[in-house]
Amino acid sequence: MATDFGRTTLPYCSFVLPGTTQRRVGVGVGTDVLDLTDVPQHADLFVGGTLDAMLAAGPDTWQAVRSWLLDDLPDGPRHPADSVELVMPFTVADYVDFYASEHHATNVGRIFRPDGDALTPNWKHLPIGYHGRAGTVVVSGTPITRPSGQRRLSDGEITFGPSVRLDFEAELGFVVGAPSTLGQPVPIDDFARHVFGVCLVDDWSARDVQAWEYVPLGPFLGKSFATSVSPWIVPLAALEGARVEQPTPSPEPLPYLQGAAPWGLDLEFVISINGTEISRPPFASMYWTGAQMLAHMTVNGASLRTGDLFASGTVSGPDPEQRGSLLELSWNGTEPLTLDDGSTRTFLEDADTVTISAHARLAGGQTLELGEVSGTVVPHS
Ligand code: CA
Repeated sequence: MATDFGRTTLPYCSFVLPGTTQRRVGVGVGTDVLDLTDVPQHADLFVGGTLDAMLAAGPDTWQAVRSWLLDDLPDGPRHPADSVELVMPFTVADYVDFYASEHHATNVGRIFRPDGDALTPNWKHLPIGYHGRAGTVVVSGTPITRPSGQRRLSDGEITFGPSVRLDFEAELGFVVGAPSTLGQPVPIDDFARHVFGVCLVDDWSARDVQAWEYVPLGPFLGKSFATSVSPWIVPLAALEGARVEQPTPSPEPLPYLQGAAPWGLDLEFVISINGTEISRPPFASMYWTGAQMLAHMTVNGASLRTGDLFASGTVSGPDPEQRGSLLELSWNGTEPLTLDDGSTRTFLEDADTVTISAHARLAGGQTLELGEVSGTVVPHS
């Protein structure tokens, strides 16, 4: 069933009508897509059929278009969202994945380095991240082919074959609109001048490949085969009512990571496998904010491009039922993870469908939907 976005969220998408091939730009109103492609207002922003021109136009235009849509919806054609094909909404430039949940990083540290400290010495001083593969970011619904790679078995033998520890990671993605200049760091308080909005991200992960390859340079083929994103980009402006205080960082971060008024977001993720809900990770517990991630990513002078995507890292909360990956959900479990059909999971099987949705909790008790990202595992051919 299509997500009901209500009247004021106004998330953007790119879609194709049945029987056609032309990409069109739409905005979500209730459970419909309102077609903006041919409306005369702001026509130059939407004629390309993707959000690229809109993203590049910058914050003044983003606000002007949003105000126009909030005040008076245009008379463009409306289609039920589940009657159109939602496609990749923007051209991904660079893709960076962070590791910003203290609960996730602690759990993974204990699993991968059981004899060492759970958090590495740098973890509370900088938002750790790595550059991923932009060309394999795909829209929700794209089949995920089980990757093959090198693994080291428990007896030390090195083998090659399809991953037997395929996993998901539930994350929030930040979509960069306005670019920056090479050599000039983006100050932390300029976050909203560059970041247009958010999407949901599933960072598919082959744990057996990852465990063997990640030392010393970090994730590589265990991650780069596919990353799924939701088709809806929710503007940052729609989430102002969901801002919450960031958990107090300790030790105090360096000045370039201190904003004038740091904020997190009160989002609740809902993860299901084949329709069985398995976890509800809370985004408000994230240690590092999106603004800190952006400031750190550019502090060396690396420039932003329109379409850059950076993701939060797996969202995991403090409780066992709030973990954002199977690696954590099946770790130290006294009971196996059991689905509604009676089957159990440690890692993903072929034909499994992982669906990650999220909603924002606004002051006053209302909620605001962010849509969903979904993908089905298909066997290695
Ligand atoms: Ca990740």
